[in-house]
Amino acid sequence: MIDLERERALTPGCHGQAFLDSAGSSLSPRPVVDTVIAHLRREEEVGGYRAAAERSDDLVAVRASVARLIGGTTDEVALVDSATRAWIQFVSALRWRTGDRILICGNEYASNAIAFLQRARADGCSVEVVPSLPDGTPDREAFARLLDDRVRLVSLVQVPTNSGTVAPVRDLAGLARSAGALTVLDACQSVGQLSVDVADLGVDALSATGRKWLRAPRGTGFLWVRRSLLETLEPFAADMHGADWTDSEDYRLRPDATRFELFESDVAATLGLGVALDHLLDLDPAEVEASVRARAAVLREGLGALPQVALHDRGDDLAGIVSFTVAGLAPAQVESRLGETGVTVSVSGRSSTRLDMSDRGLDAVVRASPHYFVSPDDLDRTISAVAAVTGS
Ligand SMILES: *Cc1c(COP(=O)(O)O)cnc(C)c1O
Repeated sequence: MIDLERERALTPGCHGQAFLDSAGSSLSPRPVVDTVIAHLRREEEVGGYRAAAERSDDLVAVRASVARLIGGTTDEVALVDSATRAWIQFVSALRWRTGDRILICGNEYASNAIAFLQRARADGCSVEVVPSLPDGTPDREAFARLLDDRVRLVSLVQVPTNSGTVAPVRDLAGLARSAGALTVLDACQSVGQLSVDVADLGVDALSATGRKWLRAPRGTGFLWVRRSLLETLEPFAADMHGADWTDSEDYRLRPDATRFELFESDVAATLGLGVALDHLLDLDPAEVEASVRARAAVLREGLGALPQVALHDRGDDLAGIVSFTVAGLAPAQVESRLGETGVTVSVSGRSSTRLDMSDRGLDAVVRASPHYFVSPDDLDRTISAVAAVTGS
């Protein structure tokens, strides 16, 4: 069991507001922030190189913590500054050929799609959309029909940015694998919220960001790439950290995933990421998942009972993002009125998940994303605040 009082004591920002924006940028636990600040102070005293050298073991351990969390090995993990960077590094490292096909699903994230469309323009591959079922999940039969030996890559988003619907990743990745296609998983909204295990899911690469459910500092993220695939990948951006300049006309990429990293990085933030990962591992990701799902369920039930509220999470498997609209009010108005009463939510707009939102004729939704540190009182208060906003 998660000790809620202890976790709340370590989260100063959760007092005085109901904080429901861990899908946007969460509140870091105090030890994460202390670590970042202490490192900046140390850099102030001795300079960045000496300060980093003093923490070299801890820095190496950050990759090991990522590996422990998602079930990979340390040499398969690259630390980067965002999920989008991880995604671009992976996608641009595949050697694309004209006629290669990329399949994306209805819940695809804008930045991922843009990276693919760039490849399509530059390398002559195509980007095709897997049709969705009425519940918003990918249509398995249609997906199976789309698969052929020209499909190089299937892009799956485990939990989208705009709803709680969890995609059946294991099943879809299995189909992709049997057709000889690679699978890249966007785990931005799932890692830190749900238990994620790359071996169990059967994906080939995974990207995630630090600031959301992992409660890590901004400007952190990671890429995991399956070992057997790693050495075939040529990062578009490689430097003297990811490669050695071995001869005037030659260089050699690192054998591990650090080939995707650059020399320069925010060391303080990376150390903070390590503390955030270890904090989560200590709590147990399965406990966190149960606790997030339970909170979201309470919220859905309470909001769903309000006559002016429409819930927009579809499907049977719903995780910690609760998306809704209020009749007669724009989502941004709801966000700001709730903000005035000490309830922090955010808005997810059409441009982030264009396919899904267009399918449903939605411009924007209010997004409430309660992490495990949100208390039952916070949930009651949120439901009452939404009721007040709707005038019911
Ligand atoms: C936030 C988000 C991203 C991008 O993460 P960054 O760290 O901002 O690059 C990608 N995919 C999904 C589903 C997201 O919610």
